[in-house]
Amino acid sequence: MTRLVIVSNRVAPIKRSKAGNEGGLAVAVAAAIQGRGGLWFGWSGKVYEHEPGPVDIFEIGNLTYATVDLSHRDYDEYYNGYANRTLWPLFHYRLDLSEFDRRYRTGYERVNAMLAGKLIPLLRPGDLIWVHDYHLIPMASHLRRMGCRQRIGFFLHIPWPNLEILLALPNHRDLVRALCEYDLVGFQTERDLRAFHEYIEFEAGGTIDDGGVVRAYGRHVRTDTFPIGIDAEAFAQYAQKAESSPQTQRLCDSVGGRRLLIGVDRLDYSKGLVARMEAIDHLLSTYPDLRGRIVMLQIAPPSRADVPEYMMLRHEVESVVGRVNGTYAEFDWAPIRYLNKGFRRQTLAGFYRSSRVGVVTPLRDGMNLVAKEYVAAQREADPGVLVLSRFAGAACELDGAVIVNPYDIEGVAEGLRKALTMSLEERRERWSSMVDRVRQYDVIAWQQSFLDRLSAAPSAPAA
Ligand code: UDP
Repeated sequence: MTRLVIVSNRVAPIKRSKAGNEGGLAVAVAAAIQGRGGLWFGWSGKVYEHEPGPVDIFEIGNLTYATVDLSHRDYDEYYNGYANRTLWPLFHYRLDLSEFDRRYRTGYERVNAMLAGKLIPLLRPGDLIWVHDYHLIPMASHLRRMGCRQRIGFFLHIPWPNLEILLALPNHRDLVRALCEYDLVGFQTERDLRAFHEYIEFEAGGTIDDGGVVRAYGRHVRTDTFPIGIDAEAFAQYAQKAESSPQTQRLCDSVGGRRLLIGVDRLDYSKGLVARMEAIDHLLSTYPDLRGRIVMLQIAPPSRADVPEYMMLRHEVESVVGRVNGTYAEFDWAPIRYLNKGFRRQTLAGFYRSSRVGVVTPLRDGMNLVAKEYVAAQREADPGVLVLSRFAGAACELDGAVIVNPYDIEGVAEGLRKALTMSLEERRERWSSMVDRVRQYDVIAWQQSFLDRLSAAPSAPAA
């Protein structure tokens, strides 16, 4: 079998990762590569002080890991800079938060070139190379320049912005041209794919054929959608097992007979946490009968805490939670429980199962795995209701959710009320349509369909 080489910004060794702090990408890539084996290459997550060490190569099970440390400058310019302060906000439609600094841009290219240079000696002729996410868009162009002829695919885990937003990025052309160096580029949803095609057609002067082959900048590249899934079966098992766990029991005891709503999100401005808390405020002010009868459990582990926008967000969320609790709480009840820490997914599974409503209302999200996990964790006989933002990629698949516009606070409050009062019959009907999809198109199917398409791509011409 051809060897799979995964390249991602962060490498999360499966047995070494600390539970509860991985994002969706690490979780999905780990699940996808675990069964198949191969090489996983990327940043170690560590920053060196003086001199870079050699590539750290180690094996766990059938997987070889190769990790590289970054310098402080790399960390500031490539990771915190271009990735987290330029591309992340821009791709999530937050032009107001995007910073365009040439130092960031050169740092991004420099680190991509450096990583490509360290990867080249580890490659074998028949390898299938799969590069992940926005940190590494220029990876293929650097690898190609260094003589790599293996097939290289790219998957974007976050949204691809529409044309007008992307044009605000000073080097948009370089980025798109770099994507055209891949053999296959995958997006989460039709919406993202359409936006990419729109750029190709109207800005790059390229063409797209019926099979999704893009011709631009003297290259042709296959493009398609591959909505990412979860390991639905394992997740359902976690949930079943966790039902009787001490933590789930403690949660249920503490909630009493009240209805539980749950939100699980990294503390990130794309997740719409402030608007969500405002929606809880609106819900309680419009429907006083719900006071004392519901509890919103918001789990929000801190993320990118050294980026100023994230520090500000933390203050904003704390302030709105404090205000809502201060307004409605009684001596024996508070509407919102806000936890600034992460939990293992095994624990979350039990919490999801105990919650009548899963609240997933990002302002923009590539997919949102929490939405799928919430569905997978439910009891068939008495499932909860997913309230889902139309701007999460998951909304393209999970049509049994109560779909809301996260900017419309009154609309979200109405959606929550509808979920809280929904009949068992309707809950079951909605859930069964969603769970079929989540089970069928799981993380293995995602990985398989991407790699099948990549394997079928014609190999790169010799230099
Ligand atoms: N997660 C976790 N513990 C936490 C919070 C989140 O394990 O305390 C996991 C969650 O179960 C999901 C992932 O982190 O698998 C988050 O993925 P998602 O696509 O929802 O958001 P992202 O963080 O990638 O933007």
